[in-house]
Amino acid sequence: MNIILLGPPGAGKGTQARRLVDERGMIQLSTGDMLRDARNSGTEMGNRVAGIMDRGELVTDEIVIGLIEEKLEGDTGGGLIFDGFPRTLAQADALEALLSRKGTGLDVVIEMRVDDETLVARIIARSTCAACGEVYNDLTRPVPDDGRCAKCGGMQFTRRADDNEESLKTRLLAYYKQTSPLIGYYHCKEKLRVVDGLGEIADVAASISEAMSKTP
Ligand code: AMP
Repeated sequence: MNIILLGPPGAGKGTQARRLVDERGMIQLSTGDMLRDARNSGTEMGNRVAGIMDRGELVTDEIVIGLIEEKLEGDTGGGLIFDGFPRTLAQADALEALLSRKGTGLDVVIEMRVDDETLVARIIARSTCAACGEVYNDLTRPVPDDGRCAKCGGMQFTRRADDNEESLKTRLLAYYKQTSPLIGYYHCKEKLRVVDGLGEIADVAASISEAMSKTP
């Protein structure tokens, strides 16, 4: 089964995608992670997108479609979770074409709804285990007292350069202006399922499982 997790920054897409990887052996395709990897390894493309990402703007369709195209050349047998992609209608069209070329398609698009106030609170307090990507929140889920990641025992935690109020404003604007039209698009294609992204991680995961069981 191939799904898209759609939602604004801080909606919990990455957290829920990692759960689906652990529980169902699906493959997470996060363009945000791919772009951060490119930056960290100092590739020419990584250097080109660094400033755009830090400001919270979208990088070009061409770059992210290229990244996804490359990943789709590998094994996709366990089912795919698109996390943070597509973010524009052009990306959605490209995804459809790429999947159809592989003889497959999208099953469900899950929109994770969270109010703006919660998004800001989540993002400003967010940190991530450098080793495994587990997400923590200073207020609601702090790093354990022993300073070790509850999942992998890692002791280094990072904050994203774009997790600040200024970039977040731009990221939210980009979401509402460029990405939210996808909600209507997938609704018309009868692929859209809406889940409440507030509440406990396990409860949101249960809603996502239910939404996935209702394939068109
Ligand atoms: P994310 O980790 O999904 O929040 O993405 C972090 C940043 O990477 C975004 O603010 C954009 O600058 C860039 N980015 C990630 N995915 C895309 C995409 N599908 N289209 C354009 N820019 C993207």
